Amino acid sequence: MRAFPPAKHDALGLEELLTPAEREVRDRVRRFAESEIAPIISDYWERAEFPFPLVPGFQKLGIGGGHLQGYGCQGLSVMGAAMAAVELARVDGSCSTFFLVHSFLATLTVGLLGSEAQKQELLPEMADFRRVGCWALTEPSNGSDASALATVARRVQGGWVLNGRKRWIGNATWADIAVIWARNSETSQVNAFIVRKGNPGYSATKMENKIALRCVQNGDIKLTDAFVPDADRIPGVSSFSDTNKVLAISRIMVAWQPVGLALGAYDMCARYLQQRRQFGAPLASFQLMQEKLQRMLSTCQAMWLMAWRLTKLYEAGKLTHEQASLVKAWTTLRGREVVALGRELLGGNGILSEFLVAKAFCDAEAYYSYEGSYEVNALVAGRGATGISSIKPPRSGKVQVQA
Ligand SMILES: Cc1cc2nc3c(=O)[nH]c(=O)nc-3n(C[C@H](O)[C@H](O)[C@H](O)COP(=O)(O)OP(=O)(O)OC[C@H]3O[C@@H](n4cnc5c(N)ncnc54)[C@H](O)[C@@H]3O)c2cc1C
Repeated sequence: MRAFPPAKHDALGLEELLTPAEREVRDRVRRFAESEIAPIISDYWERAEFPFPLVPGFQKLGIGGGHLQGYGCQGLSVMGAAMAAVELARVDGSCSTFFLVHSFLATLTVGLLGSEAQKQELLPEMADFRRVGCWALTEPSNGSDASALATVARRVQGGWVLNGRKRWIGNATWADIAVIWARNSETSQVNAFIVRKGNPGYSATKMENKIALRCVQNGDIKLTDAFVPDADRIPGVSSFSDTNKVLAISRIMVAWQPVGLALGAYDMCARYLQQRRQFGAPLASFQLMQEKLQRMLSTCQAMWLMAWRLTKLYEAGKLTHEQASLVKAWTTLRGREVVALGRELLGGNGILSEFLVAKAFCDAEAYYSYEGSYEVNALVAGRGATGISSIKPPRSGKVQVQA
């Protein structure tokens, strides 16, 4: 495997919009991704295996606690954490998703909504990937309509008994802890629970035959009378609006992930067109190739700027759900276009996973559909634009107009 190509994608000098600390995180993660992930990852992707030999490298990277402060967490800025997600995705979409699920879903839920005892016990080890988390919201029958979840938590002496099924849960087959979202049978509200590895009521089966993010071990979880002690109920969750507090932040990271994929595909193509010759000249000298390459580059700049503005709005405390959805929908849409152009530029090699563009091409499909599909995010953004919600079918022909 040849070295990952150098970063040539910053045509507009956008890195000037980052602080020195954010650039430092970017460079640190970039070095790890280029030197440790790139040489081995396509084999793992082909075999649909998680690259466990990379875990010690993740442990030293100093990103696992994301933007949480204290309890051993690194207290990155949200933008700094986003740079980590981007640099991982630039080389490998699955590694970026591993980081996202662990840090911006599982760890974040404990940090935002956990008890003092849960934070003290779990965060120091989660902050450096010594304990890995998964985050289980989606169910076989409740995907986009996640708030309708049917997993039940029933109160018993000393704790709770969980029954239900979850689907698509990243890291589920090997995680040390699972954050399980379940409906409280007394209140009918959504609550959250920490289910620990080895709980006899928990089982997870790997989902096979994915064409995207093949290294991420997505699992089908079964909860069969899984007992969870009171101490492992997450006390800051009393309804689905608390779930949304986590998703509001993780959606920013998801909006950045296709930016990373697109930047990596661009860098790969920029080098390839210089090196590959046809008709006695480098591919880079052909006008049609240049047009596609510059289209990738300009779209990368626009995607980066949209995601940057989204993050700045969040950091300023001004971000709305509609704005987050607007950007997530758009970057995942454009990310798909950029990697498709990249796949074209490489000709036959564009469908070989070892060139990494083909891998990015496939991985973009997952980004488009998860953490709120393109369509659902587009409808949330459409609600922002019109004041009319069209996500749920109108009852008896009436449309719901938001104030
Ligand atoms: C690789 C991957 C990793 C994931 N990891 C996790 C994880 O770690 N934890 C977790 O909890 N979940 C995870 N998910 C689940 C993910 O968030 C869901 O797949 C997503 O929310 C969409 O749900 P669904 O796949 O059931 O599609 P569905 O909800 O069945 O939607 C199918 C299609 O219908 C469209 N649709 C649905 N409702 C509407 C509507 N109102 N209007 C218009 N169109 C609509 C959708 O946009 C989509 O095109 C993961 C998914 C994938 C693919």
